[in-house]
Amino acid sequence: MEKKKHPFIKKSDKVIVLTGKEKGKIGTVLKVDAEKGRAIVEKINMVKRHSKPGGKKAQGGIIEKEGPVHISNVMRVCPKCVLPVKVGKRPLEDGSKVRYCKRCDEILDDK
Ligand SMILES: [Zn+2]
Repeated sequence: MEKKKHPFIKKSDKVIVLTGKEKGKIGTVLKVDAEKGRAIVEKINMVKRHSKPGGKKAQGGIIEKEGPVHISNVMRVCPKCVLPVKVGKRPLEDGSKVRYCKRCDEILDDK
């Protein structure tokens, strides 16, 4: 088995959906599960769930919540290109690494 590569998306990244009924939708990554290769993306793949009464919420009922999507089904969106782009990594002078857009060279990490 090939060792899993760290996905090129992280929490709060903007990604575009590449396949399925929500193809073309753009959302913000809320959570990444690198081990399972899945991510939770804001307003993407909404699923209805029954919530039980009690706990923190007083009322039970049906709530809509984001379901996980496979990381391979989403791609990073460059804020400058406004397109799905390939992301590269390069070291900075201080030794830390940043991700950048391979299309326009824009740095994608907030530094
Ligand atoms: Zn770009």
